[in-house]
Amino acid sequence: MEIMQFIDLKRQYEHLQPAIERRINNVLEHGKFILGPEVRELETALAEFCGARHAIGVGNGTDALQLALMAEGVGPGDAVFTSAFSFFASAEVISLVGATPVFVDIEEDTYNICPKALGEAIESVSRAGELRPRGIIAVDLFGLPANYTAIEAVADRFDLVLIEDAAQSFGALCGDRKAGQFGKIAATSFFPAKPLGCYGDGGAVFTDDDELAERIRSLRVHGKGADKYDNVRIGTNSRLDTLQAAILLEKMAVFAGELDARERLANQYSALLGQNFHVPVVPEGYRSAWAQYTVRPRHGTRQSWQEKLASDGIPSAIYYGKPLHLQPAFADLGGKTGQYPVAESCSESVFSLPMHPYMAPEEFDRVVKALQA
Ligand SMILES: *Cc1c(COP(=O)(O)O)cnc(C)c1O
Repeated sequence: MEIMQFIDLKRQYEHLQPAIERRINNVLEHGKFILGPEVRELETALAEFCGARHAIGVGNGTDALQLALMAEGVGPGDAVFTSAFSFFASAEVISLVGATPVFVDIEEDTYNICPKALGEAIESVSRAGELRPRGIIAVDLFGLPANYTAIEAVADRFDLVLIEDAAQSFGALCGDRKAGQFGKIAATSFFPAKPLGCYGDGGAVFTDDDELAERIRSLRVHGKGADKYDNVRIGTNSRLDTLQAAILLEKMAVFAGELDARERLANQYSALLGQNFHVPVVPEGYRSAWAQYTVRPRHGTRQSWQEKLASDGIPSAIYYGKPLHLQPAFADLGGKTGQYPVAESCSESVFSLPMHPYMAPEEFDRVVKALQA
């Protein structure tokens, strides 16, 4: 029995090999490994793709979020609100800049932050008076943009800066706006397994604000002023490697087609698996980038379904098995079981299926057959 790959990056490489090798060789020839011409070329392509005025290539998605908070001057005494159900980095960066993460429960159908619970959490922090509400990091989980119409209204009402964690959603859209365009600043990741991934770490920050963009360009190079030996603020070292930018330029060329392929597979899964599973909900007007195809069993345990898949040589994964308020690293925030019931029940029941643009029809059929049993 052949073991299937969860995300088959090697198959993508087989398609792109000559083009990627040409790009890499070109960088090796010109030798501008840090902020070389490919970085600017990619930034222009990324900004054009998602309709943001500025795209800034950085070291990884976590840094992209951290730089967004740094550029806004978020720090000690500030409360930043984020989803209780996400990858650790969405909240980690808040603590990293000295601010305090405040978690908010999610909506069961989209797995994204609940705008109503968000408003209530902000009011409750304001009433307590210990922390100053400063920002919101909304996460586009599994590739689906959060409910920005409602979240933007909340951000405006309380005068908070809204940051989009688009690490999983680059390529997604809601109405006529693409991921990367929501909020005042957006952050994405080019970690290899993300919808648009490179061959190492990489990320980008997006904004329409010229002044913020300038500040982020400075922050990513040690708070540089006129040059990197003129330092006007405390920054960090977080640049996108020229080699990674070169690789991403070739991946951008096929990205739109890959998004279509992901969407086709997701729609087929949903058409076939609805009887045994709660399949992902994509609200009217939205398009997901399908970073993950995630289900919850209607009957039977998650473990039994995953074992069934494994016995057929099919990998599956749990994103995320522990909600953020119950992560040991956040114990000092005093999170308790029962505090965010939807995030908790989802973390106990979700699992994700193999899905990538190069999945063969036979592989797809094998997964469906195992889950229709
Ligand atoms: C992957 C991810 C990040 C972090 O990106 P890295 O490039 O791995 O640092 C942040 N938020 C979410 C939701 C992610 O999935």
